[in-house]
Amino acid sequence: MALDERRLAMLRDMGVPFWRPLQPRSPAPPANAGATDHTPADTPGPPGSDQAASARETIASAKPLAGAARVASPPPLPERRLEPAAPREVSRMAQPAAVPPPPAPDAAAPRQGEAHPAVGAAPAVIATLDWPALRATVAACRACGLCESRRQTVFGAGHPRAHWMIVGEAPGEQEDLRGEPFVGPAGQLLDNMLRALGLTRAEAAPADQPPLEPAQQAYIANTLKCRPPRNRNPEPEEMRRCEPYLQRQIALVQPRLILAMGRFAVQALLRTDEAIGRLRGRVHRYEGVPLIVTYHPAYLLRNLPDKAKAWEDLCLAAQTMEALPPR
Ligand code: SF4
Repeated sequence: MALDERRLAMLRDMGVPFWRPLQPRSPAPPANAGATDHTPADTPGPPGSDQAASARETIASAKPLAGAARVASPPPLPERRLEPAAPREVSRMAQPAAVPPPPAPDAAAPRQGEAHPAVGAAPAVIATLDWPALRATVAACRACGLCESRRQTVFGAGHPRAHWMIVGEAPGEQEDLRGEPFVGPAGQLLDNMLRALGLTRAEAAPADQPPLEPAQQAYIANTLKCRPPRNRNPEPEEMRRCEPYLQRQIALVQPRLILAMGRFAVQALLRTDEAIGRLRGRVHRYEGVPLIVTYHPAYLLRNLPDKAKAWEDLCLAAQTMEALPPR
Protein backbone atom coordinates (compact mmCIF):
# COMPACT_ATOMS: atom_id res chain seq x y z
CA MET A 1 0.00 0.00 0.00
CA ALA A 2 1.40 3.34 -0.96
CA LEU A 3 2.26 5.67 1.89
CA ASP A 4 0.46 8.97 1.64
CA GLU A 5 2.24 12.22 2.38
CA ARG A 6 0.72 12.54 5.83
CA ARG A 7 1.96 9.16 6.97
CA LEU A 8 5.35 9.88 5.47
CA ALA A 9 5.43 13.12 7.43
CA MET A 10 4.55 11.24 10.61
CA LEU A 11 7.33 8.73 10.07
CA ARG A 12 9.74 11.58 9.41
CA ASP A 13 8.66 13.35 12.56
CA MET A 14 9.15 10.24 14.66
CA GLY A 15 12.55 9.62 13.08
CA VAL A 16 11.47 6.32 11.52
CA PRO A 17 13.62 5.66 8.44
CA PHE A 18 11.80 4.49 5.32
CA TRP A 19 12.40 3.93 1.62
CA ARG A 20 10.30 4.54 -1.41
CA PRO A 21 10.87 4.50 -5.17
CA LEU A 22 12.34 7.58 -6.76
CA GLN A 23 9.74 9.69 -8.53
CA PRO A 24 10.69 11.26 -11.88
CA ARG A 25 11.09 14.98 -11.42
CA SER A 26 10.68 15.95 -15.08
CA PRO A 27 8.85 14.64 -18.16
CA ALA A 28 12.06 12.90 -19.19
CA PRO A 29 12.54 9.98 -16.75
CA PRO A 30 15.95 9.78 -15.11
CA ALA A 31 18.37 7.07 -16.09
CA ASN A 32 17.83 5.16 -12.85
CA ALA A 33 14.03 5.37 -12.90
CA GLY A 34 12.52 2.47 -10.94
CA ALA A 35 15.42 2.18 -8.55
CA THR A 36 14.73 2.27 -4.81
CA ASP A 37 16.52 4.88 -2.76
CA HIS A 38 16.19 7.15 0.25
CA THR A 39 15.16 10.17 -1.75
CA PRO A 40 15.76 13.74 -0.65
CA ALA A 41 11.98 14.15 -0.66
CA ASP A 42 11.78 11.61 2.18
CA THR A 43 14.01 13.59 4.47
CA PRO A 44 13.37 17.14 5.58
CA GLY A 45 16.17 19.38 4.40
CA PRO A 46 18.28 21.49 6.68
CA PRO A 47 16.48 24.02 8.83
CA GLY A 48 15.27 26.90 6.73
CA SER A 49 15.18 24.91 3.50
CA ASP A 50 12.02 24.48 1.42
CA GLN A 51 11.90 20.77 2.28
CA ALA A 52 12.07 21.41 6.01
CA ALA A 53 9.36 24.04 5.73
CA SER A 54 7.20 21.62 3.74
CA ALA A 55 7.60 18.88 6.37
CA ARG A 56 6.69 21.27 9.14
CA GLU A 57 3.61 22.42 7.26
CA THR A 58 2.52 18.84 6.68
CA ILE A 59 2.78 18.00 10.38
CA ALA A 60 1.20 21.26 11.48
CA SER A 61 -1.85 20.61 9.31
CA ALA A 62 -2.16 16.99 10.30
CA LYS A 63 -5.66 15.78 11.12
CA PRO A 64 -6.76 12.45 12.60
CA LEU A 65 -6.01 9.68 10.16
CA ALA A 66 -8.76 9.38 7.58
CA GLY A 67 -9.89 6.28 5.79
CA ALA A 68 -8.25 4.09 8.35
CA ALA A 69 -8.79 0.38 8.36
CA ARG A 70 -11.54 -0.96 10.56
CA VAL A 71 -10.31 -1.73 14.06
CA ALA A 72 -10.88 -5.22 15.31
CA SER A 73 -11.97 -4.60 18.88
CA PRO A 74 -12.15 -7.42 21.38
CA PRO A 75 -15.55 -8.40 22.68
CA PRO A 76 -16.75 -5.60 24.94
CA LEU A 77 -15.96 -6.12 28.57
CA PRO A 78 -18.43 -5.22 31.27
CA GLU A 79 -18.06 -1.50 31.51
CA ARG A 80 -17.87 0.51 34.68
CA ARG A 81 -18.76 4.07 34.00
CA LEU A 82 -16.31 6.69 35.04
CA GLU A 83 -17.43 8.84 37.84
CA PRO A 84 -18.47 12.20 36.41
CA ALA A 85 -15.99 14.97 36.95
CA ALA A 86 -16.80 17.37 39.70
CA PRO A 87 -18.17 20.65 38.37
CA ARG A 88 -15.50 23.28 38.21
CA GLU A 89 -17.42 26.20 39.67
CA VAL A 90 -15.41 28.24 42.07
CA SER A 91 -17.84 27.40 44.85
CA ARG A 92 -16.93 23.72 44.50
CA MET A 93 -13.22 24.28 44.53
CA ALA A 94 -11.02 22.75 47.12
CA GLN A 95 -11.84 23.58 50.65
CA PRO A 96 -8.75 23.86 52.79
CA ALA A 97 -10.06 21.14 55.07
CA ALA A 98 -10.11 18.65 52.16
CA VAL A 99 -6.36 18.89 51.70
CA PRO A 100 -4.31 17.25 54.38
CA PRO A 101 -1.63 19.63 55.54
CA PRO A 102 1.90 18.50 54.76
CA PRO A 103 3.65 17.19 57.82
CA ALA A 104 6.86 18.75 58.98
CA PRO A 105 9.60 17.14 56.89
CA ASP A 106 11.45 15.64 59.79
CA ALA A 107 8.24 14.32 61.37
CA ALA A 108 7.62 11.92 58.47
CA ALA A 109 11.21 11.05 57.67
CA PRO A 110 11.91 7.41 58.45
CA ARG A 111 14.82 6.53 60.65
CA GLN A 112 17.38 4.19 59.20
CA GLY A 113 15.98 0.68 58.86
CA GLU A 114 12.39 1.79 59.41
CA ALA A 115 9.65 1.49 56.86
CA HIS A 116 8.39 4.81 55.55
CA PRO A 117 5.42 5.96 57.61
CA ALA A 118 2.67 6.58 55.10
CA VAL A 119 1.17 10.05 55.37
CA GLY A 120 -1.35 10.72 52.66
CA ALA A 121 -5.02 11.08 51.93
CA ALA A 122 -7.12 7.92 51.96
CA PRO A 123 -8.11 6.59 48.51
CA ALA A 124 -11.78 7.17 49.33
CA VAL A 125 -11.01 10.83 49.96
CA ILE A 126 -8.85 11.16 46.85
CA ALA A 127 -11.73 9.79 44.77
CA THR A 128 -13.83 12.84 45.72
CA LEU A 129 -11.29 15.60 45.04
CA ASP A 130 -11.59 18.17 42.31
CA TRP A 131 -8.59 19.36 40.30
CA PRO A 132 -7.20 21.99 42.69
CA ALA A 133 -7.63 19.75 45.72
CA LEU A 134 -6.11 16.79 43.92
CA ARG A 135 -3.10 18.81 42.81
CA ALA A 136 -2.57 20.17 46.31
CA THR A 137 -2.92 16.72 47.85
CA VAL A 138 -0.33 15.26 45.51
CA ALA A 139 2.06 18.13 46.21
CA ALA A 140 1.79 17.43 49.93
CA CYS A 141 1.82 13.65 49.67
CA ARG A 142 4.21 11.64 51.81
CA ALA A 143 2.50 8.29 51.36
CA CYS A 144 5.64 6.49 50.22
CA GLY A 145 9.38 6.85 50.60
CA LEU A 146 9.81 8.66 47.28
CA CYS A 147 8.77 11.87 49.02
CA GLU A 148 12.17 11.87 50.71
CA SER A 149 14.22 12.19 47.52
CA ARG A 150 11.94 14.15 45.20
CA ARG A 151 12.55 17.79 44.42
CA GLN A 152 8.88 18.22 43.68
CA THR A 153 5.90 16.16 42.63
CA VAL A 154 5.05 15.88 38.94
CA PHE A 155 1.30 16.12 38.66
CA GLY A 156 0.28 16.21 35.01
CA ALA A 157 -0.10 18.51 32.02
CA GLY A 158 -2.68 19.26 29.38
CA HIS A 159 -6.31 20.18 29.01
CA PRO A 160 -8.36 18.83 31.93
CA ARG A 161 -11.06 17.50 29.58
CA ALA A 162 -8.86 16.38 26.70
CA HIS A 163 -10.16 13.51 24.61
CA TRP A 164 -6.78 11.76 24.70
CA MET A 165 -4.92 10.74 27.83
CA ILE A 166 -1.30 9.64 27.82
CA VAL A 167 -0.11 7.68 30.85
CA GLY A 168 3.61 7.25 31.39
CA GLU A 169 5.63 5.66 34.14
CA ALA A 170 7.54 7.81 36.62
CA PRO A 171 9.29 11.17 36.52
CA GLY A 172 12.93 11.26 35.53
CA GLU A 173 15.55 13.81 36.45
CA GLN A 174 14.28 16.55 34.12
CA GLU A 175 10.67 16.05 35.18
CA ASP A 176 11.72 16.16 38.83
CA LEU A 177 13.51 19.45 38.17
CA ARG A 178 10.72 21.10 36.20
CA GLY A 179 7.64 19.55 37.72
CA GLU A 180 6.23 18.60 34.31
CA PRO A 181 5.83 15.14 32.82
CA PHE A 182 7.64 14.09 29.64
CA VAL A 183 10.30 16.75 29.22
CA GLY A 184 13.76 16.33 27.72
CA PRO A 185 14.45 14.10 24.69
CA ALA A 186 11.70 11.60 25.55
CA GLY A 187 9.25 14.46 25.91
CA GLN A 188 10.28 15.86 22.54
CA LEU A 189 9.68 12.49 20.95
CA LEU A 190 6.27 12.29 22.61
CA ASP A 191 5.42 15.76 21.33
CA ASN A 192 6.40 14.65 17.81
CA MET A 193 4.21 11.59 18.15
CA LEU A 194 1.29 13.73 19.33
CA ARG A 195 1.85 16.26 16.55
CA ALA A 196 1.78 13.47 13.99
CA LEU A 197 -1.72 12.64 15.24
CA GLY A 198 -2.75 16.29 15.12
CA LEU A 199 -2.62 16.51 18.93
CA THR A 200 -0.99 18.79 21.45
CA ARG A 201 -0.43 18.80 25.19
CA ALA A 202 -1.01 22.57 25.25
CA GLU A 203 -3.98 23.66 27.33
CA ALA A 204 -4.73 26.57 25.01
CA ALA A 205 -3.71 27.77 21.56
CA PRO A 206 -1.50 30.84 21.15
CA ALA A 207 -3.47 34.09 21.17
CA ASP A 208 -3.13 34.57 17.40
CA GLN A 209 -4.49 31.12 16.54
CA PRO A 210 -7.96 29.55 16.66
CA PRO A 211 -8.90 27.93 19.98
CA LEU A 212 -8.09 24.25 20.41
CA GLU A 213 -10.78 21.60 20.57
CA PRO A 214 -10.58 18.87 23.25
CA ALA A 215 -10.39 16.36 20.39
CA GLN A 216 -7.01 17.88 19.49
CA GLN A 217 -5.70 17.80 23.04
CA ALA A 218 -3.99 15.26 25.26
CA TYR A 219 -3.67 15.20 29.02
CA ILE A 220 -0.41 13.63 30.18
CA ALA A 221 0.20 12.02 33.56
CA ASN A 222 2.56 9.53 35.07
CA THR A 223 1.75 6.47 37.12
CA LEU A 224 4.04 7.71 39.89
CA LYS A 225 4.13 11.37 40.83
CA CYS A 226 7.62 11.35 42.39
CA ARG A 227 10.94 10.40 40.88
CA PRO A 228 12.46 7.12 42.04
CA PRO A 229 16.10 7.69 43.05
CA ARG A 230 18.54 7.16 40.17
CA ASN A 231 15.54 6.37 37.95
CA ARG A 232 15.23 2.88 39.39
CA ASN A 233 12.10 0.88 38.70
CA PRO A 234 9.10 1.73 40.88
CA GLU A 235 8.42 -0.62 43.78
CA PRO A 236 4.99 -2.33 43.85
CA GLU A 237 4.18 -0.60 47.14
CA GLU A 238 5.02 2.81 45.68
CA MET A 239 2.75 2.14 42.73
CA ARG A 240 -0.03 0.97 45.03
CA ARG A 241 0.23 4.08 47.18
CA CYS A 242 0.26 6.44 44.20
CA GLU A 243 -2.40 4.73 42.13
CA PRO A 244 -5.45 6.59 43.54
CA TYR A 245 -4.08 9.86 42.18
CA LEU A 246 -3.89 8.56 38.62
CA GLN A 247 -7.30 6.96 38.98
CA ARG A 248 -8.76 10.28 40.05
CA GLN A 249 -7.04 12.13 37.20
CA ILE A 250 -8.57 9.71 34.70
CA ALA A 251 -11.99 10.08 36.32
CA LEU A 252 -11.75 13.88 36.07
CA VAL A 253 -10.45 14.01 32.50
CA GLN A 254 -12.90 11.34 31.27
CA PRO A 255 -10.74 10.66 28.22
CA ARG A 256 -12.16 9.03 25.14
CA LEU A 257 -8.99 7.01 24.68
CA ILE A 258 -5.95 6.18 26.81
CA LEU A 259 -2.48 5.54 25.47
CA ALA A 260 -0.49 3.57 28.07
CA MET A 261 3.25 4.03 27.52
CA GLY A 262 5.64 1.62 29.14
CA ARG A 263 5.52 -1.44 31.34
CA PHE A 264 4.59 0.22 34.61
CA ALA A 265 1.78 2.28 33.11
CA VAL A 266 0.38 -0.89 31.57
CA GLN A 267 0.74 -2.81 34.82
CA ALA A 268 -1.08 -0.12 36.74
CA LEU A 269 -3.95 0.27 34.31
CA LEU A 270 -4.48 -3.28 33.06
CA ARG A 271 -3.33 -5.20 36.13
CA THR A 272 -1.14 -7.51 34.12
CA ASP A 273 2.52 -8.50 34.07
CA GLU A 274 2.41 -9.47 30.41
CA ALA A 275 5.10 -7.99 28.21
CA ILE A 276 4.20 -4.97 26.11
CA GLY A 277 5.05 -6.92 22.99
CA ARG A 278 2.24 -9.34 23.79
CA LEU A 279 -0.28 -6.59 24.60
CA ARG A 280 0.31 -4.33 21.61
CA GLY A 281 -1.95 -4.38 18.58
CA ARG A 282 -5.19 -4.84 20.49
CA VAL A 283 -7.75 -2.51 21.98
CA HIS A 284 -7.91 -3.01 25.75
CA ARG A 285 -10.33 -1.34 28.16
CA TYR A 286 -9.82 0.64 31.33
CA GLU A 287 -13.12 1.28 33.07
CA GLY A 288 -14.76 0.99 29.65
CA VAL A 289 -12.36 3.46 28.00
CA PRO A 290 -10.42 2.10 24.99
CA LEU A 291 -6.76 1.70 25.92
CA ILE A 292 -3.85 1.17 23.52
CA VAL A 293 -0.52 -0.17 24.75
CA THR A 294 2.74 1.11 23.34
CA TYR A 295 6.37 1.65 24.23
CA HIS A 296 7.59 4.50 26.38
CA PRO A 297 9.38 7.23 24.37
CA ALA A 298 12.49 6.84 26.56
CA TYR A 299 12.62 3.19 25.53
CA LEU A 300 12.17 4.14 21.88
CA LEU A 301 15.16 6.46 22.09
CA ARG A 302 17.29 3.46 23.09
CA ASN A 303 15.63 1.01 20.69
CA LEU A 304 15.22 2.85 17.42
CA PRO A 305 13.85 -0.10 15.39
CA ASP A 306 10.82 -0.23 17.68
CA LYS A 307 9.78 3.25 16.56
CA ALA A 308 8.07 1.57 13.63
CA LYS A 309 6.02 -0.50 16.10
CA ALA A 310 5.10 2.64 18.02
CA TRP A 311 3.93 4.14 14.74
CA GLU A 312 1.65 1.12 14.27
CA ASP A 313 0.31 1.64 17.79
CA LEU A 314 -0.44 5.30 17.06
CA CYS A 315 -2.28 4.30 13.90
CA LEU A 316 -4.35 1.82 15.91
CA ALA A 317 -5.10 4.52 18.46
CA ALA A 318 -6.19 6.97 15.75
CA GLN A 319 -8.35 4.34 14.07
CA THR A 320 -9.94 3.41 17.39
CA MET A 321 -10.70 7.05 18.16
CA GLU A 322 -12.22 7.52 14.71
CA ALA A 323 -14.48 4.54 15.21
CA LEU A 324 -15.91 5.84 18.50
CA PRO A 325 -19.44 7.22 18.36
CA PRO A 326 -19.73 10.98 18.78
CA ARG A 327 -19.81 12.11 22.37
S1 SF4 B 1 5.12 8.70 44.60
FE1 SF4 B 1 2.94 9.10 44.86
S2 SF4 B 1 2.42 8.05 46.81
FE2 SF4 B 1 4.68 8.29 46.78
S3 SF4 B 1 5.05 10.25 47.86
FE3 SF4 B 1 4.93 10.70 45.66
S4 SF4 B 1 2.78 11.30 45.33
FE4 SF4 B 1 2.87 10.22 47.29
